[in-house]
Amino acid sequence: MTASTDPIARVSVISTGSVAIRPEHVGPTWKNLYFWLFTSTRWTAPRPINVYVIEHRDGVVLFDTGQDRASVTDPDYFPGGIYGLIYSRLAKFAIEPDQTLSAGLSRLGYAIHDVDTAVISHLHQDHIGGLPLLGHADIIVSHDEWQSLHQPLPEARGLMSSHIDLPGLNWNLITPEPLADPTLAPFSIGHDLFGDGSLTLLPTPGHTPGSLSLLIRRPGHAPLILVGDLTYDADLLADGKLPGVGDKKQMRDAVGKVNALRATMPGLVVLAAHDPSAADRLTTPLNPVPSA
Ligand SMILES: [Zn+2]
Repeated sequence: MTASTDPIARVSVISTGSVAIRPEHVGPTWKNLYFWLFTSTRWTAPRPINVYVIEHRDGVVLFDTGQDRASVTDPDYFPGGIYGLIYSRLAKFAIEPDQTLSAGLSRLGYAIHDVDTAVISHLHQDHIGGLPLLGHADIIVSHDEWQSLHQPLPEARGLMSSHIDLPGLNWNLITPEPLADPTLAPFSIGHDLFGDGSLTLLPTPGHTPGSLSLLIRRPGHAPLILVGDLTYDADLLADGKLPGVGDKKQMRDAVGKVNALRATMPGLVVLAAHDPSAADRLTTPLNPVPSA
């Protein structure tokens, strides 16, 4: 590829409000999830709830869709009982009227109807919040994540079906297939979104069973990997340190693979959903974002 054949015009990030979580959630921690969840007395400073926006010649692609503002305005958004208690101890959201997905897109010069494809890294609430607005788009999620939604007690795993499996959405379930590209090693399976190698979905399970990351490769730009909630801090990931939520063995494997990719892809920028440094990392001089 030469610079003139770059199929991507722009990569941007918006945040749909902010979230405070427990320091143990960011990790690393030796404590059991339910122990820290019910004993932690501290919250982190507010962190972003990032939605990445990729303007590709085949359409505008979102990676994650943020947290729905209804979650802070509608008293019935969350389940009651023990799950409601767990959700309230896990995260505190703040979303102003001008921090919705639509408002963020509009500041970048896009309308919600410009979105052709939304890739959902995983189905937790702070990644699926834009779904009610995306009936016109293709929604992509991994088959494994979809299966997890349809196993018993999804709410116990942080999946609120009533906000996910909405009528009229165009779900596309992807199963990672063998990759012919040796430069992606140690990833051997994935999904080339538009068949041009610019946007490759890579399985990075652990936070949830079907979590996906998105590798963005453009001529003349540093490669980017959007990792969802595989980490909450790119520096911790680089040190091999794991968050406090998820399957530790799977996360260790996925973090190891991303770090192996960092070694073979110079300048690879790791962008997480709730990393306070992500927006700055995206716009460093290494990866210039053309002005609109
Ligand atoms: Zn999240």
